[in-house]
Amino acid sequence: MTSQTAPSPLTFIRSDVQGMHAYAVQDSRGMVKLDAMENPYTLSPLLQAKLGVALGAVSINRYPALRVDDLKQALKSYVAMPAGCELMLGNGSDELISLLAMACLTAKDKPKNTILAPLPGFVMYEMSAQLQGLDFVGVPLTADFELDEAAMLAAVAAHKPAITYIAYPNNPTANLWDAGAIKKIITRCNAYGGLVVIDEAYQPFSSSTWLDEIRANPSANENVLLMRTLSKFGLAGVRLGYMMGSKVLIDQIDKLRPPYNVSSLNAECALFALQHKDVFADQAVQICSERERLLAGLAVLSGVTPFKSDANMILVRFTDADATFSKLKAAGILVKNVSKMHPLLANCLRITVGTPDENTLLLKELGSFPN
Ligand SMILES: *Cc1c(COP(=O)(O)O)cnc(C)c1O
Repeated sequence: MTSQTAPSPLTFIRSDVQGMHAYAVQDSRGMVKLDAMENPYTLSPLLQAKLGVALGAVSINRYPALRVDDLKQALKSYVAMPAGCELMLGNGSDELISLLAMACLTAKDKPKNTILAPLPGFVMYEMSAQLQGLDFVGVPLTADFELDEAAMLAAVAAHKPAITYIAYPNNPTANLWDAGAIKKIITRCNAYGGLVVIDEAYQPFSSSTWLDEIRANPSANENVLLMRTLSKFGLAGVRLGYMMGSKVLIDQIDKLRPPYNVSSLNAECALFALQHKDVFADQAVQICSERERLLAGLAVLSGVTPFKSDANMILVRFTDADATFSKLKAAGILVKNVSKMHPLLANCLRITVGTPDENTLLLKELGSFPN
C-alpha cells in the first residue's frame, strides 16, 4: 500500500469561514475595564449569598423548562409588553441576531435576501448575514453620526432588505437617531413586507424607547421586532437576550431556536435580577449621572471631542487615537479602539462608563498627557 498524505480535516470547512478572523476579546487581567459596555457594579455580598442559594436549588439534572417560562412571564411584565405581542429568549441577543438571519435564509431558486444596517454599527448584523449567505448592505451615517435618511430610503428601495437593523441607541456612536427618519424607514419596509429590528441593547441608559411608538401606533409597527438584552443592564456574564414583536412573527422565528438555548442557571439569574430590579435601576441612574460627568470632563480637555450619548459608553475623538489608546493601556485602563472600524470613526475611542473612581482615574490620566 502506498502511503498517501491524508486529506486535510479542513476539506469541508467553508472557505469563507477559514478566511474569517475570530471575535477578539482583549486580555483585561488587572486592568480598569472600560472596553465592553459592562455594568461596573458587582452584586453586594448579601445578594451574592441569596443568588448562591437560588442557584444551588436549581435542578441542573433536568433540562430547562418551567423556570424559562417563568422568566418569559417576568420579562413580559417587566416591559409591560403590548397586547398582541409575543416574546422569545436568546442566549444573548447575539443568538437572536443569528436566528433572524437563519429565518430569512434564501431559497436556492431565489435571489439572495439582504440585511441592511447603518454603518458604523454593531458588527453582528453583518456577520450574521455573511454566515447565512445573505447579502449585507451598509449605509454610512452622516459625519455627525445621524441617519442619512435619503440614503437609507434609497437603499431600502433598491435592495428591499429582508431585515433592516436600527440600533436605538447605536453602538459604537451611542446616539439615538431621529424618530421621524426611523418611522419612514419602517413604513417603506412595511410596504413590501420587510422587517425592521429595533435593537435596544442600551435601553437602561436611554432617554427614549421605541416601545412607546409601538404602543401608540401598533399597526404602523407591525413589521417591527424590538430586541433587548440583559447584558448592559448588568448581566453580561449571564447571556440573556429577548425579542418582542407580533405573535405571528415571533412564533415563526422561535421555531429556529435550539430548544434549550437558555440554561436553567441563566434563567434563574435573570429572574433573580428582575426580582431585584430596583438595585439595577439605581445602578443605571448612577451610570447615567457618571456619563454626564465624564462628558463634561472630557469636553474641557484639549484635543478631545466627546459625542453625545444615550448609552453607557461615550465615543470620543482624539488627535491620535492609537497613541491615546496605548498611553491609557500603559496606565492600566482598557478602552476600545474603534478608529480603524470605519472611516467615520477615524481617531475615535469608545469608552465605557465605569464606577466614579474609575471615571475619575480616566479623566486624570487623559489630563496628564497631550491628546
Ligand atoms: C452588546 C450589544 C448586543 C449584544 O448583546 P448580547 O445580549 O450580550 O449578545 C446587541 N446589540 C447591540 C447594539 C449591542 O451593543
